[in-house]
Amino acid sequence: MGQDVHGHFIGGAWVGGQATPDANPSDLENPVGLYVQGGAAEAEAGIAAAQAAFPAWSLSGLEQRLDILDRIGAELIARKAELGALLAREEGKTLAEGTGEVGRSGQFFRYYAAETLRQMGEVADSVRPGIEVQVRREPLGVIGIITPWNFPTAIPAWKIAPALAYGNCVVFKPAELVPASAWALAEIIGRSGLPAGVFNMILGPGRDVGQAIVDSPQVDAVTFTGSVETGRRIARDAVARMAKVQLEMGGKNPLVVLDDADLDTAVSAAVNGAYFATGQRCTASSRLIVTEGIHDRFVEALKARVGALKVGNALDPESQIGPVVDQNQLDQNLSYLDIGVKEGARLAMGGERLKRQTRGYFMAPALLTEAHNQMRIAREEIFGPIAAVIRVKDYDEALAVANDTDFGLTAGIVTTSLKYASHFRRHAQAGCVMVNLPTAGTDYHVPFGGRKASSYGPREQGSTAREFYTVVKTSYVAA
Ligand code: ADP
Repeated sequence: MGQDVHGHFIGGAWVGGQATPDANPSDLENPVGLYVQGGAAEAEAGIAAAQAAFPAWSLSGLEQRLDILDRIGAELIARKAELGALLAREEGKTLAEGTGEVGRSGQFFRYYAAETLRQMGEVADSVRPGIEVQVRREPLGVIGIITPWNFPTAIPAWKIAPALAYGNCVVFKPAELVPASAWALAEIIGRSGLPAGVFNMILGPGRDVGQAIVDSPQVDAVTFTGSVETGRRIARDAVARMAKVQLEMGGKNPLVVLDDADLDTAVSAAVNGAYFATGQRCTASSRLIVTEGIHDRFVEALKARVGALKVGNALDPESQIGPVVDQNQLDQNLSYLDIGVKEGARLAMGGERLKRQTRGYFMAPALLTEAHNQMRIAREEIFGPIAAVIRVKDYDEALAVANDTDFGLTAGIVTTSLKYASHFRRHAQAGCVMVNLPTAGTDYHVPFGGRKASSYGPREQGSTAREFYTVVKTSYVAA
């Protein structure tokens, strides 16, 4: 392997290959480094290593797993500033966001370190006298983990940590745009004391490495986060061979603002939910559904706050919004603004390409107003710093519009009314509901996931994760 080439991690060793530069969206002249691009052969080597390691790892002691996960978590937390800067450089979220993400990734490992000791089963009397029934969970086997670019450390962390905690082996394929964050995570995991083959990382394209993982009969389960289109394809292919599958996909998350809302809370929730992380979050609030009594005041206050946001190089500590991740995503964002205006929405602010000292994919956060819920900008996930305001008459209409979507990941409401807050919590058709909070930003010790086209299969995170990463065994013993 060339000195500066970052390789795959297979069977406890680093493996080289053909490498390509990893782009820096804030500064196109300064790529992050050279990372290998594998194919089906590397994926198969990783799967074979995982399969060979499984029998011993599935029976490993709980304290061994706890110590390893705790070590990984502690190192991520200790190095969050350094690794957060690397993440910001490669993905484009700001330094503060990158640092926060790496710290959060460490917390996932620490949480699942403790969770290893909480693997309790159940004992019951049989309906037949003299027989005892035991119900316990066992590891599944080899887990394929396929992740997107928008949370390059946290999403891998929240899948890898429970996979290992519950005694599985891992074949991890990160997104093509973010190999550096994945490599840094794999490097830490590689030094944590895990037996060779328990954890493997293969870098490369989804259609080769990813597809080989999905299609391999040796992979017992696939957990995926990414686009709806890829998720559907993965589900189809995994189910065809009866593999377990878990998908987290897009969102078109509503933030409802009622007349009785505290204006500052509403604007803060909208700015955070719609624009932070450059709007590149599946939990982003892309539909701001606002009742008519507060509509104009809300739009004016939001414009003032969004207009003051500093867009710039992700590594500049002053930047509040980093660049868009790549040219494709930028083109998609700009084309949705055109589509919105053609459909009759008003571009109230933003949407221009911005020049900064370094060449990058900078755009001004954009706000569309006078949108309605049948427009494409209100139905399709944009995944950029763009929000659309939909004016509604009252709470009932707001709830109906909020739920009128193919997606169902998060839904938020800003109100001072207990009655409406309680009703919304009960009737919002979403996996996560937020009251007087942004639609983005969730904890690590409770379930995360959505409904409808947003998710498929058991929930992620918290102790609920065991439903995906383990299989139930019921055994009967005659006394
Ligand atoms: P995004 O828009 O977030 O890049 P994708 O769904 O295209 O969403 O990608 C998410 C992950 O899925 C990436 O790691 C990508 O390489 C992988 N992927 C893409 N196509 C396939 C496929 N056919 N099989 C398996 N994984 C794939």
